[in-house]
Amino acid sequence: MRRLVLATANAHKAAEMRAVLSELGYTLEPRPAGLGEIDEVEETLEGNAVLKARAVASVAQAAAVADDTGLFVDALDGRPGVYSARYAGPDASDAQNVARVLAELDGVPPESRGAHFRTVIAVAEPDGSARWVEGVLDGRIADVPRGENGFGYDVVFIPSDLGGETLAELSAEAKNAISHRGRALRALAEMLRA
Ligand code: IMP
Repeated sequence: MRRLVLATANAHKAAEMRAVLSELGYTLEPRPAGLGEIDEVEETLEGNAVLKARAVASVAQAAAVADDTGLFVDALDGRPGVYSARYAGPDASDAQNVARVLAELDGVPPESRGAHFRTVIAVAEPDGSARWVEGVLDGRIADVPRGENGFGYDVVFIPSDLGGETLAELSAEAKNAISHRGRALRALAEMLRA
């Protein structure tokens, strides 16, 4: 049985990862206690995912897995992108980040509100070597927030191939089946299996 140490302290993400990786015979271990905040100083999702996975692998002296996600809005030249978590400021809430995106898209018609989510998941070894996979979900940004489920920008993201619901109007299972993170996790499973 192989061990993988998680870089995330987010219980929701940890549960999603555990569901996929336990089927492959991996045990997931929690982020090492005492490891402080890791500054996401890179300018790409893969840069930050690898940075976090390496930091945890080095402290834990075991293989570690880390992820980074961004929302890329076409009409905003790809913003908020790698800065999605702190788009409205260093300690911004989800609601504040969503409000900023909606304000910047004020007056932009539906056909020009295209966007995508991208998740990168990296696995690093204690010697510093790292591999990564990605998952992408295409869609567009709604005019107003809708739905109670999920988190982050889910309330304003309408996936392309569904009936016009936002991600926050889908069940967790329905979201995982199509989402950027679900796709990245399945790609991770493929990579680990190979
Ligand atoms: P992180 O890389 O997971 O920390 O996410 C970066 C930003 O994207 C945060 O503002 C999250 O709330 C947001 N985010 C990450 N994953 C999702 C998602 O699946 N749906 C909506 N927002 C997300």
